[in-house]
Formats: sequence, structure tokens, C-alpha cells
Amino acid sequence: MSGTRRLLTRLREMMASGAAPLADIVRLVAAEMVAEVCSLYALRAGDVLELIATYGLRPDSVGRTHLRMGEGIVGISAATGKVQNLADAQNHPAFAYRPETGEEQFASLLAVPVRRGGHIMGVLAVQNRSPRRYGADEVDVVETVAMLLAEALAAAGAAPVIEDALGATLVRQFESVSLAPGLAIGPVLNGGLSAGPRNFLAKDPVVEQERLERALVAMRRDLDHLIEQGMPAGQEPREVLEATRLVAADDGWVKRVGDAIRSGLTAEAAVVRVASDLRDRMRRITDPYLRERLADIEDLAARLMHALDGAAAPGPVAPGTILVVRRLGPAQLLQWHACGIAGIAIEEASSSGHAAILARALGLPALGGARGLMDVVQSGDIAILDADEGQLILRPASEVRENYERALTARAARRAGYGRLRREPSVTADGTPFSLMLNVGLALELEQLDSVGAAGIGLFRTEIAMLARGAVADTAEQAALYSRVLDAAGDRPVLFRTLDLGGDKLLPDAPPPEEENPAMGWRSLRVALDRPALLRRQIRALLLAAAGRPLSVMFPMVATVTEFRAARGLLYAEAARVRPAPSRLQVGTMLEVPALLWQLPSLLKDCQFLSIGSNDLMQFLFAADRGSPALAGRYDFLSPPVLDILAYVQRQTEAAGVSLSVCGEVASRPLEALTLAAMGITSLSMPASSLLGTKGLLRSADLGAFRPVLNGLRENASGEASLREPIAAWAREHSLDV
Ligand code: PEP
Ligand code: MG
Repeated sequence: MSGTRRLLTRLREMMASGAAPLADIVRLVAAEMVAEVCSLYALRAGDVLELIATYGLRPDSVGRTHLRMGEGIVGISAATGKVQNLADAQNHPAFAYRPETGEEQFASLLAVPVRRGGHIMGVLAVQNRSPRRYGADEVDVVETVAMLLAEALAAAGAAPVIEDALGATLVRQFESVSLAPGLAIGPVLNGGLSAGPRNFLAKDPVVEQERLERALVAMRRDLDHLIEQGMPAGQEPREVLEATRLVAADDGWVKRVGDAIRSGLTAEAAVVRVASDLRDRMRRITDPYLRERLADIEDLAARLMHALDGAAAPGPVAPGTILVVRRLGPAQLLQWHACGIAGIAIEEASSSGHAAILARALGLPALGGARGLMDVVQSGDIAILDADEGQLILRPASEVRENYERALTARAARRAGYGRLRREPSVTADGTPFSLMLNVGLALELEQLDSVGAAGIGLFRTEIAMLARGAVADTAEQAALYSRVLDAAGDRPVLFRTLDLGGDKLLPDAPPPEEENPAMGWRSLRVALDRPALLRRQIRALLLAAAGRPLSVMFPMVATVTEFRAARGLLYAEAARVRPAPSRLQVGTMLEVPALLWQLPSLLKDCQFLSIGSNDLMQFLFAADRGSPALAGRYDFLSPPVLDILAYVQRQTEAAGVSLSVCGEVASRPLEALTLAAMGITSLSMPASSLLGTKGLLRSADLGAFRPVLNGLRENASGEASLREPIAAWAREHSLDV
């Protein structure tokens, strides 16, 4: 019998006659571990850890010995949430000596955080006189007991306070990364795996294993059902859900749940145990795609818990509810969306992850990277999720909340007014036509073409579907997707961008980049030209999908005319083979790398359209990582150097007869859109959520009146980092909705 199994069997016997006193539990753990000491510390108000049970330390130190969070090895374990395993604890610089405990005689120390639903509730520590590091099995035993103790403490209502009375009412502000724009105000719903299992210790592992098998079958069936059913609104996020189905079929993590069952846990407790292990591993992984896979598994763990206890899926939520989770898989996100959540804050999510992709597609405001949020948030707390500014305000002051509520009401009223804008002509107040198109990455976004009345697709990011799926699709699969895109667009133009992988967009099986600066590394078109098979396959799929219709293809991250010509050469070579040939084949380039600015005269001879990718162009122009929250907003698009560049590009393209559009984030921002239009760049591509707002703004703008003002600002600029303020002042004076 394994150590864990034997210990859990004893614990079950002990608890069978009623709740076991903590003193008995720590004695049992000490005996099982052949340890001289086993102690339990609970987190009390004011971030203080109190010794509440011990075997081996002086009994009268119980209730008297206190450590602050971060103080001593036990305090470090609580503060970091990490296991501390030391052979020579007393000589560790952080060792905090407490004479009343008599612990100087113990050299080795294993401290394991007691955690429930992401909250630290205390620390379980084991000590031995002789110096040694505890083995992996022993750590496993103590972690399992720590999990049980967390539940026992919570169930007994003796849950240590997570925050003191003051902390629970304090306003907290979390700087995060915007995953999908928008604003939500309402009660927080803590969506973590927090509801623990009712029973932990199993009599018969065979019965538990059978329960697990049945739950797995039910969970996989549910998932299939979800995939077949598609999205709540009848859409099909297949690319994303299929990836989850693959993870569900993967036996690796299921086997680990089986191992935990064999150690004596119930099926529910085993799932919680494996999910909590994953959470710990997650903290250490930096690769965004591995993290995504683990998030998928956690998503499945939550589903498995539902299948095990037969609990119903979450139901409708209160209006404005903001879901707060540590991680969120795509299936969970869809389910919560169907429950009516108004926004989500995810502690660990990248903007290229599944959750972000889906949130954008669903128009659900979302924030990622709000570190530490789960540790302080309580369900029912009021929060403001401002995904436009990348911040979450927890328990806001009433004036702040009122201001945001006013903004939200104004926005809703504006939205209601947008509906009628859909069919209105795209012409400014002074008669300049403009064209607003969509940035799209998934098939499920296509219905937005009609719902917002877009003029076409100004950027189809072909890598998104592959990232969502977790693998490169073959030619036939790609052709089917591109064909759907062209069908949905009808007569409207679609600018397909070839694969833009690498940098922060990595497929799971891609080797992790060993470059210091992956964004400037071997990515995107550079990879495509060095390994042309993938690009050829994609081009063939595009040509097949066009099936005689017009086709427009552009290349990302072009840095030299030579690169552009090489890529175009591949396109032409494939086009010469495919029948029927597209009725019209247009080739374009993204302008993202500043070096292209000095090559425009040659470049523009060879292409029919050029699209400014402002996200990357700004990143490379100002040497400012686009994903760094610390740099967000530091450099302004509405600055004299950028506007000079735009004016130059506009002149050059116009003279060469090459169409020009902007497809980066700036196109969706009101002041930027106004400025671009005034500079003659009237073809803008953006997410659907911004399109009608931008249309309303431009329809009321008198560009003829604004242009001389803008020119004056540019001519008189002398070293200003931004012209935003005077531009905004003009817009406000002219009652524009910016
Ligand atoms: C850009 O860089 O502006 C762009 C549109 O491309 P992506 O955001 O996909 O890098
Ligand atoms: Mg780019």
C-alpha cells in the first residue's frame, strides 16, 4: 500500500466517527511520515499565520506562535503559494526562530501551502531532526493532506479570514491587458474550481475509478454535443472546441486522476488534486501555448466535476455579472456566455489565447493578466471592468461607479442608435466616401459582415483559425474555410493575409523560440520564405477556394522588396497551375516594418494594395513591445512623426495608383479614424464591435473643416510627443462623438 493510500485510509477511519480533531490529524501525518513534527498554521486577519495544531512542537505554543506572511520559511510558503523543501532550514537566511516552540532542534522542514479555490488558508509543515530533503512521494502525501485540511477548515466554518475586515472593503485596482474591448459593471462571480468535493476519502478505489470512467464518458458526450450544437446563437466555434476535444481524449491527465484515486481519494477529490497540481505547474510555465493546453485541461476538470456530482451546468446570472477566473477554456467561456455574463477577467491569459480569441469574436469585454485578483475577489463584490483601458476596479468608490454607469448608459444608447446606421451610406458630412471593413480570424465572425454592414474584410488573419485549432490545417480544410469566407463576403472584397506565425503566435508543436526578441525574430514571412512548403500549401488553398472568383492576398512582416517579390513569385507560380484561375488576382503587402518606408517607390510598382499594420509598425517604429502593459499608451499614433509617415505613404500610394488601408488597432479608435480620414486614408479595417461607432463618427465629421486644423497642428509642432489633446479639443468643439 502506498504511503498516501495508507495515510488516507487511516484518516477515513479516524473521521468515520465524526470530525477528527486537528491535533489527531497532525499526529497521524507525523507518524506516517516518520517526522518529529507536523504543524498546521492558519491564516488570520491581518495576514498573520497562527499555529493552530502541532505534534512535536511545544503544545503551549498553539495559539501563541504567529508569523507574518513572508516571514520565515512557513511565511514564505504562504506568501508565494509554493512548497518549501529544505534540508537545513535553520541556516536558511529567512528562518524565523520562535523560542516558545523549541524548534531549533529540527534541521529539515517541508512547508506546503493549504489552499482552497486559489486562496491561501494556511500552511502545513513537517520537520525532522536529521537534515534531509523530503522525497516527491512525501511531498505528495503532505499536499494531499493539505487539500483535505483546507476543506475541513472551510466546512467547519473555521475558515481563516482571507482578508481582514478593512481589506474586504478596500478599493482595489488591477492593471491588466485588454483581451477584448468594452465595459462592464456588476457583481463579480468567482468562477474558479472553488466548490470543493463533499467527500474526499474513498472506501473503494475500484468504485471510484468506475465513477470516473462514467463521468468521462458523460463529459466527452457533453463536449461532442456542445461542438455539434455550435455556439448558443447557432454559430460554430469548431476550430476552438475541436482542440478541447483532442485534450479530452488525451489519456495523460486522466491517468493522473486515476493514480490519485488509487491513493485513496474519491474521484472528485482526485480531480481537484490534479487540477491544483496543474495550477502550480502553470505558474512556472512561460510558453503561452503550453499554458493554453493546461487551461484546456482545467476547463475539462471543471466539466468532469460537474459530471461527477451530477450538478447542473451554471444557470443565468445577474445582469452585468463579471466572471473572474484564474484560467478559462473555450468550452467554459461559451457556457458562461450563454448564462449571460457581461465581461470576464482572467488572471492568466494571453491576448492570442483561446479565451481571448473567442471573447473578441463574441464581443465580450475581457481582461487578462490581472495578477492576484483571485486572491482577493469575493463573489458578489461590485467591480468595474474597463477593458478599453485595461483595468479592473474592485469595490469602486460610489462616485467612480456612477461615472462609469453613466458612460455605460451612454454607450448603450449609442449602440441602440447604431442599428439604423448599418444601411446608411458611408460618406462624411462634407461628402467624402469612406469604406469600413472587418478584421476577421474565425469563421464564427463572418455573420458580423452583415450584422454591421461592413464593406468587406480588410484583414483576414489566416493564422488565427490554426492557432485556435492548435495545428496547421491541410489544404482541403483551409480551402473549405477560405471558401466560406468568400461566400459570406459575396461581392465585397476580402484581403487574405498569409500565415503570420511566430513571435507570440506559436503552434503547440512548434519548438519554443530560442531568440532574445521573438517579435523581431524568425517569424511570419521570414519562416514562410525559408520553408516555402507551408506557404505554397496555403496559397493553393486560397486559389482553390477562390474557384474563379477574384482573390486578394497580402503578405505580413515584409521588410524588403526582395522578400515581397519572392512571396509574390510563389503566389504567381501556384496561380499558374490552379484551374479555374481567379478572375482577378491582387497582391498586396502589409506595412509593418519601418524599413519598407524607404523602399516604397520600388515596392509600389509591384503591388496593387498596401495595408498599414499599425500594431507592429508602432512597435518597431518606437522600439516598444506591443504586449508590454508598462509601455501601453507611452507612444502615440497621433504624434508628428507618425502623421508625417502616414502623409508620405498616402502621397506615394496615390501617385502609384495603389489602394491604401489601415488594419491595425488604431483604425477602430475615434480620433485616429478621424485623423486618418482627414489625411485621405479612408479605407479602415477593424473589429466588428467598433465599426458602427466609427461610421457614426465619420458620417458627422466635416473633414474639409478639420484638415486645415490638423495641417496647422502638424506644421507648428515642435517636439510634441502627441497631438491628441488639440485634436480631441477640435472634435469636442464640433460635437463629435469621440
Ligand atoms: C498589425 O500589426 O497592425 C496587424 C494588423 O497585424 P497583427 O495585429 O495580426 O500582428
Ligand atoms: Mg502585425
